[in-house]
Amino acid sequence: MAKSSVAVLGLGIMGGGVAARLLSAGFPLSVYNRNRERTAKFADAGALVAASPREAAARAEIVISMVADDAASRSVWLGADGALAGVSPGSLLLESSTLSVDWVRELGAAAAQKKCDFLDAPVTGSKPHAATGELFFMVGGSVAGFARARDVLSVLGREALHLGPNGSGALVKLINNFVCGVQAASFAEAISLVNASGLDREKCISVLANSALASPLIKRMLTSMAADDFTPNFPLKLMTKDIGYAIQEAAKCGVPLQTAAPALEVFKQAVKEGLGDLDFSAVVKSLKK
Ligand code: NAP
Repeated sequence: MAKSSVAVLGLGIMGGGVAARLLSAGFPLSVYNRNRERTAKFADAGALVAASPREAAARAEIVISMVADDAASRSVWLGADGALAGVSPGSLLLESSTLSVDWVRELGAAAAQKKCDFLDAPVTGSKPHAATGELFFMVGGSVAGFARARDVLSVLGREALHLGPNGSGALVKLINNFVCGVQAASFAEAISLVNASGLDREKCISVLANSALASPLIKRMLTSMAADDFTPNFPLKLMTKDIGYAIQEAAKCGVPLQTAAPALEVFKQAVKEGLGDLDFSAVVKSLKK
């Protein structure tokens, strides 16, 4: 059976991996990226490069967006050159960025006006998982839309879970990431304390790396620290954004995230120190904790 045509909006760390994966699986692909330089290697691999999200969406039955934040998502979907201006009725639209719940619900309503199925479908997993099709999709939207997305999601992910109506995927993703952010911030403080304590740093790190606190996330941080390589898999500024969105969403549910608030300050401080474009694990390099 012929594969559906797909448009990917945003060719950053995650969107780039997703687009490459779709191309290698044989999906006819259109791509859009704000900074056009990022499109060159996808054009070489057979993708059509669109000048606007509108043009990319007009060529596709399925549109996937993977951009930085609410503002970026608004700019690729809305407006005269936005994807919604180009979609055909009946298209399937997936927003896979990590965004606020209010915005994805608003976007879902705008997609419904265009008679399109809309899913919020953020992911866990990072750069290597996007490249190898091992993401975990958390999906909000209609069951019928979820069923239609199966062919692309099975190429991009090891699992996709339908969680409820629009906004459900976005909210679960924020719950997941605020806990990651809190862990990362407290681990950064632990490293500061080790550094200041006069203890043997290597031995301390070996204890921490082999204790119950060594989650996959902390292990990733330890790997970056050991190699002194903070090339971003997940940019620090985006973790900062996620903790902020989670605090806002939780407040609307009447739940003050008391551990997330100081973690957000730790990450904001790291951004102030110019670490925002490095991997989130660079929070350990932040001077003031
Ligand atoms: P990234 O590498 O920084 O890429 C960001 C993308 O957003 C780029 O294509 C960028 O375009 C685009 N963008 C930013 N501002 C824009 C604007 N105002 N208008 C249009 N496009 C804009 O980020 P990423 O790591 O791929 O993350 C993408 C999304 O996935 C984020 O929501 C992030 O939280 C989420 N996520 C990331 C990871 C991870 O491990 N990296 C894991 C799970 C979820 P330019 O090239 O023009 O700047």
